[in-house]
Amino acid sequence: MNDMIIGSNNNQMSSSQNTAPVGVKPCVLNMSGIFRSYVQGKKTLDILKGSSLSIARGEMVALVAPSGAGKSTLLHIAGLLESPDSGDVLICGRSTRGLIDRERTALRRSEIGFVYQFHHLLPEFSALENLVIPQLIAGRDKKTAVERATQLINYMRIVDRAEHRPSELSGGEQQRVAIARAVANAPSLLLADEPTGNLDPKTSSFVFDMLHNLVRESGLAALIATHNHDLARRMDRCVTLNGGQVIEMKL
Ligand code: ADP
Repeated sequence: MNDMIIGSNNNQMSSSQNTAPVGVKPCVLNMSGIFRSYVQGKKTLDILKGSSLSIARGEMVALVAPSGAGKSTLLHIAGLLESPDSGDVLICGRSTRGLIDRERTALRRSEIGFVYQFHHLLPEFSALENLVIPQLIAGRDKKTAVERATQLINYMRIVDRAEHRPSELSGGEQQRVAIARAVANAPSLLLADEPTGNLDPKTSSFVFDMLHNLVRESGLAALIATHNHDLARRMDRCVTLNGGQVIEMKL
């Protein structure tokens, strides 16, 4: 299962990219000294003020903080969707400071998967096609992409929904497809913003179990923003944002 979920890509970290001492797991994500402000009218909002966070391969980290604290900002910067005003984000040991847009996009496509609170699946395509398309964009041939999409559909236990469009799926099924899509290109890092926040408690727990198993079995590094303390407690570590800094917290 491990090989099936993550091993079919060539984007695993090379030792030259990310050398860690023996016994220390190499970092997939390393954010250091991140500052980010937004200008709103005449005011400047300082959201991140020197935030630092490292996540190792196979580590699952919960991000728990009140609304407006900067969780989405941190996730967007970790996911190379937004640039920090200063500081650096290293993905698999590679600094992203100074990368041009094309390089950032290529790194994001190969190494990072996203899951959002709302599924953001392509409405006019089936569940299976939603998993095939990102792989074709990444350069996989169609046969391999369909094979991998089918394996993921099996893994997420939505085989009988594979040919259905997102509007014909339940909320839990939509999120399972969205999670499968996030790992379709075998990334090293999974970022999720309230991935079960839109689901009822029972479905939320079931979908989280699947996400949890997937991360565990594939050895992904994961940063998952959630308001749900029960889910957060099941992760390896929990961090919060306080005064624009990332700090470890006990729940
Ligand atoms: P959270 O995800 O914890 O709710 P966000 O990162 O979305 O927090 O937002 C943190 C703060 O930054 C909020 O006050 C929000 O209004 C502000 N903010 C976020 N993005 C922008 C933007 N693009 N322009 C202006 N202000 C923003």
